[in-house]
Amino acid sequence: MRRRTFVTCAAGFLGANALARGATLSASGPDLIVTNGTIHTVDPRFVNPEAFVVRNGRFAFVGSLRAAKTYAKRGAKTLDLAHATVLPGLIDSHMHLLRLGLALHEVDLFHLTSYAEVIRKTVAFAQTSPDAWIIGDGWDQDLWPNQAFPTHEALSAALPNRPVSLNRVDGHALLANAKAMELAQVTQNTPDPAGGRIIRDASGNPTGVFVDNARALITQAIPPPTDDQIRRATIAAIGECNRWGITAIGDPGVSYQTAQAYDKVADQNKFTLRNHVMIADNADLIAAHFAHGPIVGAYDGRIQIRAVKLYVDGALGSRGAALLEPYSDDPGNTGLLRTTQAHIEDVATRALRAGFQTAVHAIGDRGNRIALDAYQAALAAVPTRDHRFRIEHAQVLSPQDIPRFAQLGVLPAMQTTHQISDMDWAAARLGPQRVRGAYAWRSLLDTGVTIANGTDAPVEAVNPLRTFHAAISRQNEENRPPGGWYPNQAMTRDEALKSMTIWAARANFMEREIGSISPGKYADFVVMDRDWLKVPAEVVMGTHVLSAHSGGMSLERADPEVAATTLRGQRSRNYACCTLMANQGLIEE
Ligand SMILES: [Zn+2]
Repeated sequence: MRRRTFVTCAAGFLGANALARGATLSASGPDLIVTNGTIHTVDPRFVNPEAFVVRNGRFAFVGSLRAAKTYAKRGAKTLDLAHATVLPGLIDSHMHLLRLGLALHEVDLFHLTSYAEVIRKTVAFAQTSPDAWIIGDGWDQDLWPNQAFPTHEALSAALPNRPVSLNRVDGHALLANAKAMELAQVTQNTPDPAGGRIIRDASGNPTGVFVDNARALITQAIPPPTDDQIRRATIAAIGECNRWGITAIGDPGVSYQTAQAYDKVADQNKFTLRNHVMIADNADLIAAHFAHGPIVGAYDGRIQIRAVKLYVDGALGSRGAALLEPYSDDPGNTGLLRTTQAHIEDVATRALRAGFQTAVHAIGDRGNRIALDAYQAALAAVPTRDHRFRIEHAQVLSPQDIPRFAQLGVLPAMQTTHQISDMDWAAARLGPQRVRGAYAWRSLLDTGVTIANGTDAPVEAVNPLRTFHAAISRQNEENRPPGGWYPNQAMTRDEALKSMTIWAARANFMEREIGSISPGKYADFVVMDRDWLKVPAEVVMGTHVLSAHSGGMSLERADPEVAATTLRGQRSRNYACCTLMANQGLIEE
């Protein structure tokens, strides 16, 4: 298929001009019969079938083994599951692919128990990294013997010629080496910026630790990622998704630069992920894409652009989520708004006319109400049956707004792992009453809506075991707290699986192509060693993805570029990732 993926506008060229050459990202060759395991199709027409047949990258037949053998052409191969479990390819409806990839190219300093260990790991990483700057994340001096902030000398001695910037675990401080401070032109004469602090020694020299707004003194010196860095990051992130059985994603807030990189990677037939790209809230980008119209099915169904992502408020942890009443632990603060209701209504209305979906990030109950009000007004202006307006996170809801999702047909795109990351402080922010409308999956499902699950990676780990486990147990990976946090809001296993497959596919406007093992859809599926619908909840974290398949192709053989990448298990939410990009304004959360 030849198709332009990113479009131009009157003001100039806005997107990559690459054309999708006849991309061959699906399996061809003999039919494949998959059998001898537990097959969960997530298609009510096919309950635990014995087998399915893959032909030319799509599911061609689902049913009994005997009928599958009759259906398959001569020369068909067989994949014997050896009693493993098959699920449809898992879908993460909200994650940031490029940010994930950049995070994978940072040195992981989480859980290290001494400064010497931090230096050793950073030096080892620097030896393998082709990038000029060495970026890291996760050091925590509270885990070290003397619990004191580090000073740069030892790090500078170990890496005298490469600039290094290492974020503390909470993202509120960083450690820079001498080379980084030199490039940033920070000296003992540099004053502390408003809202920030340069830690200094007795003679006033910076020790290398920069707190809060002082961090920018260093990060502003980090050059924007090169095209090659962006390309490598994209490939690494795709590999990270694939190894966890993620075969499709929703990718909110994609900039022009990022879109260009995706085009290049897809052009090399390396985009082994189906991406529902949601363009960023940029006036030129929006105008160009709305004028062009939706792009669907490019690169053999790997990239589509038919959605726009906006923001209404901030996040709960930093008290930026917009609340109707003040924070329970910060009287007088009701959070902040990042855009107006009028702007959301304007974009959503134009999106309806252009055949685009609108997705709005809303965390607080005020933010969610504003988004719902804006959507309601847009729908009154342009009545549309199948709009699939989305609210990203829908994290804290006023009880009276919960039924409005179903009434308006708005889809909540929620991340079940946010609940386990936030549960230790959410009640303090919200108080005992309001917290009952937070992470309220059951309350929403009971109104008849479907929930599209995801991770917001790299904010949370890609790991879908965590996503499923949190959804059914309201517990973290250590199965804490006993019985779960507000366990009456949990999903059933069936709902959790749908939230990661068919419901996510629908929120991504891809349910005709993926989301279930159904004849005609792309043969995206994952093989697990245990059956998620049967194992006890506390065993879910111990299950394994044995293999993943996209368009019938096995994704087991990692791209060498991916295999060389640092792979993380899980990460804390409270860190500032991707200094590189955030600092350059190239990405949107
Ligand atoms: Zn996000």
